[in-house]
Amino acid sequence: MKNFALIGNPNSGKTTLFNSLTGSTAHVGNWPGVTVDKREGKYKYKKENIEVNIVDLPGIYSLSPYTSEEVISRNYILEENPDCIINIIDATNFERNLYLTTQVIEMNVPVIVALNMIDIVEKNGNSINEKLLEKTLGVPVIGISALKEENLDTLMIKALGASNKTRKGLSVIKDEKISSLIKKIEAEYQNKNVQNSLFHATKLIENDEIEVKNNENLVSIIDEYKKDNYSNSEDTDFEATIADLRYQFITNECNKAVKAEKNGKEKISFSDRVDKILTNKWIGIPIFLVILFLIFHLTFSTNLFFIGSFGLFENVPLLFEGTPYEELFYTSEGINSFGVMLQNLVIGTTDMISSLVNDGLVSVNTPDWCVGLIVDGVLGGIFSIFSFLPQILLLFLFFSIIEDSGYMARIAFILDRIFRKFGLSGRAFLPLIMGFGCSVPAMINTRTLADDKEKIATIRVIPFFSCGAKLPILTAISGAIVTQFGLANADLITYSMYLLGMIVAIISIILMRNTIMRGKIPPFIMELPEYHLPQFKSLVIHLWDKLKHFVKKAFTIILASTIIIWFISHFAWNWSFLEDAELNQSILSSIGQFIQPIFTPLGFGSQLGQFGWVFAVAAITGLIAKENVIATFATLAASLTAGFVADDALGGIDSVIEMINATGINVPGLIAFIAFNMLTIPCFAAVATAKSELPKNKFKSTILFWIITSFVVSSMVYLIGTFYWTVFIYIALIAVVIILIYLYNRRMNKIEKGLN
Ligand code: GDP
Ligand code: MG
Repeated sequence: MKNFALIGNPNSGKTTLFNSLTGSTAHVGNWPGVTVDKREGKYKYKKENIEVNIVDLPGIYSLSPYTSEEVISRNYILEENPDCIINIIDATNFERNLYLTTQVIEMNVPVIVALNMIDIVEKNGNSINEKLLEKTLGVPVIGISALKEENLDTLMIKALGASNKTRKGLSVIKDEKISSLIKKIEAEYQNKNVQNSLFHATKLIENDEIEVKNNENLVSIIDEYKKDNYSNSEDTDFEATIADLRYQFITNECNKAVKAEKNGKEKISFSDRVDKILTNKWIGIPIFLVILFLIFHLTFSTNLFFIGSFGLFENVPLLFEGTPYEELFYTSEGINSFGVMLQNLVIGTTDMISSLVNDGLVSVNTPDWCVGLIVDGVLGGIFSIFSFLPQILLLFLFFSIIEDSGYMARIAFILDRIFRKFGLSGRAFLPLIMGFGCSVPAMINTRTLADDKEKIATIRVIPFFSCGAKLPILTAISGAIVTQFGLANADLITYSMYLLGMIVAIISIILMRNTIMRGKIPPFIMELPEYHLPQFKSLVIHLWDKLKHFVKKAFTIILASTIIIWFISHFAWNWSFLEDAELNQSILSSIGQFIQPIFTPLGFGSQLGQFGWVFAVAAITGLIAKENVIATFATLAASLTAGFVADDALGGIDSVIEMINATGINVPGLIAFIAFNMLTIPCFAAVATAKSELPKNKFKSTILFWIITSFVVSSMVYLIGTFYWTVFIYIALIAVVIILIYLYNRRMNKIEKGLN
């Protein structure tokens, strides 16, 4: 079967095209050795009985070896010899996208250019002359719409045609001196029988890292050529010169094929008009904050649009009163947001299941310990996590919409100015905001950061952007605080904790970028993509992936952890089974009590009552997966209060309330507990990712950084919460640190100036 490779810039529509072509045959894995998606699938064309294997290469802007994505794509073409390359181009960003094309066509591989998003080009009243572009580039060109599935079969038939012929690489460099140098080096490669000699020769002259390393002996020819032909050494930065020549080719030659609508005035596109508002210097950021607030509000609020604040719902009888679903749509507080409705639906259902299971087991005389294990341990643990799934998915859906529509790129752009003030470029925005979903893809995304120190600093603070798995901790504890202590709104506490995470992140960045991670902030240049209507299919695929991942985790890691926790909490060291009231003699309890003192300064250590060790245990199980924190509470809560008979499994909030009653923990202690879990070492998966993404010698210090930050901030939260006046001590301390850093920076700047 033939192999076709898809190559193109990020956001050019590769995923959309890949999904349309391969349908259900697609499967995703990782490229060997690296955590970059490898996707493959089969394209079938019924009419002609054709079947082709399609490989989706990572999105890249160039074939230089600066990112692993670029190396993967380049090596794939050079080593795996695909039968045809489909170079997909965002036709609305024609010039930037063609830059990659000018490099691809240097290889001796059949290439076809797919001008994607041709529907938008046409809607804007523009057109691209395919025949002319075909002549200029020397490869077939065809306009398609991956989204509307237009021209896809024609594209594949043309690609098949191209794959049946051999093709020789072409250079777009039109400069006498450089062209003759390319010829010279190309001849050297041909003598050595190297495939794709034109591509390799051009890369070598571009001073390409990999190429130079593999062919040190040829570099002298270039140096000599420079000496003989260039008097001014400034003209011999061939990397820049060749990039420039590529762009010259694009603007002088390729642009002839573009026919822009001219009706007297320049036509302002829809995107430009929207951007006048959304990226406005003054209201851009406020609009973004409002959108962010709306997203959280629609996901978490139990008082939608604050309608209930006027007491409207106080006396309204509940629908489905007396059933598990009585709080589904509204409560006396107000109308539930969509996220809370779904959550109540899940909780009502899981409650019903666990009481059915409980009754069933009891009616067949199952031993008490077995009922406890199944209902409290297993179901309690897993269901307490399931109850947060709707909100996690909803939050994720909103973020996908923002990203797919092209709005996220704008935010990065308008935040760049602010980010620079504390030492990052706007490019770091995407990985940081992705942290709200999950740290793992967020850390992988830092590969787009060119500067190493910026990358390290970013990876370190990504976990502070509270991920989906930490959400149950936030919601369950703030819900319990509201119920138990009658304090404020739960969603207000949740927002504040998110905010705390972000503030700690910003302060950490400022500290790092001004001390150990000093360095230049690379410029942030990007062309904004056109706005798109997010594609329903890709949203569904996103969510489905997330759901699968989550369910898999629930039934593996979390299930295993809850069973182990239940066992070691219900058995003593001599393996005698403990009744509920005797849990303080369990194996888990003695382990918990051993580590408990280290949490005393944070408010959830030795000062707590008899079951206080559960907090220490939960903090530790959270290192495996953050969902474990609340799952641990849920597994143990039903057994905690003395004399409590195993009944239904408790939901997330209820189990925290049970914990509060059993241990006597206070509000500052609870808040410090949330802060600790948000800021400390993230879960296993995130730690493993950090290890592979960070430079080798930066991993241990990163772990240490997480530990120190979580202890410092949480103890600060606890102390300020307990003794309000300590806030002044902290303010004074922070002021001293800022002054010290300022002085240090001044000195360093002087030294650096002195060096130049
Ligand atoms: P990738 O980063 O290259 O994988 O790009 P995606 O496939 O994620 O596409 C980026 C955005 O462009 C998505 O919002 C798509 O819905 C949109 N898109 C892709 N192809 C087309 C097209 O042919 N026409 C239009 N109007 N939008 C498209
Ligand atoms: Mg994609």
